[in-house]
Amino acid sequence: MAESVKKYSKNEILEVTITDIGNDGEGIGKIDGYTLFIKDAVIGDTVRCKIMKAKKNYAYARLEEVIVPSEYRIRPACTISTRCGGCQIQSMSYERQLQFKQDKVRNNIVRLGGFDGDEIDSKMETIIGMDEPFRYRNKAQYPVGLNKEGKIVTGFYAGHSHNIIPSKECIIGIEENGIILDTIVGHMEANHISPYDEETGRGLVRHILIRKGFVSKEIMVCLIINYKGRNASGDYIPSQEQLCNKLSQIEGMKSISVSINTEKTNVIMGNEIHTIWGSDTITDTLCGLKFNISPLSFYQVNPVQTEKLYGTALEYAELTGNETVWDLYCGIGTITLSMSRKAREVYGVEIIPQAIDDARENARVNGITNASFYVGKAEEVLPRLYEEENIYADVICIDPPRKGCDQAALDTMLKMAPKRIVYVSCDSATLARDLRILVDGGYSIDKIRPCDMFSWSVHVETVVSLTLQDDKK
Ligand code: SAH
Repeated sequence: MAESVKKYSKNEILEVTITDIGNDGEGIGKIDGYTLFIKDAVIGDTVRCKIMKAKKNYAYARLEEVIVPSEYRIRPACTISTRCGGCQIQSMSYERQLQFKQDKVRNNIVRLGGFDGDEIDSKMETIIGMDEPFRYRNKAQYPVGLNKEGKIVTGFYAGHSHNIIPSKECIIGIEENGIILDTIVGHMEANHISPYDEETGRGLVRHILIRKGFVSKEIMVCLIINYKGRNASGDYIPSQEQLCNKLSQIEGMKSISVSINTEKTNVIMGNEIHTIWGSDTITDTLCGLKFNISPLSFYQVNPVQTEKLYGTALEYAELTGNETVWDLYCGIGTITLSMSRKAREVYGVEIIPQAIDDARENARVNGITNASFYVGKAEEVLPRLYEEENIYADVICIDPPRKGCDQAALDTMLKMAPKRIVYVSCDSATLARDLRILVDGGYSIDKIRPCDMFSWSVHVETVVSLTLQDDKK
C-alpha cells in the first residue's frame, strides 16, 4: 500500500526545488510526494513559497522568494508580467520556453493519445521558434477605465478578472500603441469624456482596438463606444475632428473608426462600425496573398510565425498541382488560398458567414478562381456533401478551434479517405485525442512540428501530417 502523504495547510511556508512545469506555465515542486504548484516559479529554482489552497495530495502556493535562481530564470522584460493576465512565463528564458512547448506537445500526444514515446520522438521535428520574440502582435485591444484616484487608465486585465492593470507599453505589441493610447486618453481628459463603467453601464469609451499591417505598415484605430447618440455636430465622440487630426499624424495611420457596443457584455466589439477618418480597411500581405482587414475581420495576430506555420502545413501537404484539397475550419481562407496555387481545386468550410464573405473577397482580390467556400459546421457540411454529392479529397487540411474536431467530421474524413491529412492545432490535448481516432481509422503519423506563435505565454501550435496506410487505400 502507498504510504500516505503528509498534507500541508494554508499559510504554511515551505522551501522547495522546482522540477517540472505545469500546463499553465507554473513551477511544480514536490516534498515527499506532496505536489506544489507555484505560479511564476521557474524550473530549476529553489524557492520559498506560501500555501494558499491545500488539498490532500497537492497545493497551490504563492512564490515568496527565489532562494537559488534557476539557470533558466531571467528578469522579465515587462514590469507588470506577474500581474497581467496576458503572459505566463516571462521569467523563463526564451530557449527554455521553446523546450517546454516541444515537450508539452510530445507528452500530450504520447499520454493523451496513447502513442509509443519512441515512435512519437522519431516523428517530432524541432519547434519553430521566433527570431524576434518581442513586438510580434499586430493587434491589441486595450480596455479603458478609471483607477482608484479617478484617473483614466488603459491597460490589460489581470488574470481571471476585469481589473485593469495600467499599461501603455506591451513588449509583444507594436511600438505605436503607446502614442495612440496617450493621444486618445489625452483627448478624453481634455474633453471630459468618461470611460465606460461595467458596473453602471455608464460612460463612453470601452476599448481601443489597434491593428497594424506588418508588411503594409498601415495602422487602424477603432474606439469601441457605448454610444448614446451623435451630438449636435454629428460626432460620435466629443471634438471628434480634433481627435482624428491628432491621431492621423501618427505615421502609418490609415483608418479611424468607432464600433458601437451598448450591451452589458464581455464581447468587446459591437457589430456597427462607422469610419470617422480615412479608409474603412487596412491591407496587408500574408503567405503571398493580399488581405483587406476591417475592424471586425479575423486576421492572424502573429503574421511572421503564421507564415511559418502555414508554410509548414503547405510543405506537409506535398501538393503537385493536381490535387483536390479540402480545408476545414478555414476562417478567412488563409490556408485554403495559399494551397490553391499548388492544387487543382480547393474547398473551404467555416462556421462564421462573415469570415466566408472575407474568404471569397480575398480569393477575388488575389485573382484566385479555383477556390470555393461553404458556410456551416464542418461536422454538418462535410457529411452532407459526402452523402449528397459524393465529394472527394486528395488532401484534407484542418485547423480547428481549441476543442478540436467533432466526431462526425472525423468519421466523414475517414470515409473520404484522402491520401493525406494535415492537422494544424492550437491545443495539443485535443490534437492527441483526434490523432488517436485518425490512426485507429487507418492513418499513420509522418511528421509533427510545433510552432511558437505566442512567446511568453504557454500556448503552442502544432502541424501534423498523416498518410493513409497502403492496406486501407
Ligand atoms: N486557418 C484559419 C483560422 C482557423 S481558426 C485562418 O487562417 O483564417 C479556427 C476556425 O474554425 C475559426 O475561424 C472558427 O470560426 C471556425 N470554427 C469553429 N467551429 C467550427 C465548426 N464546428 N465548423 C467549422 N468551422 C468552425
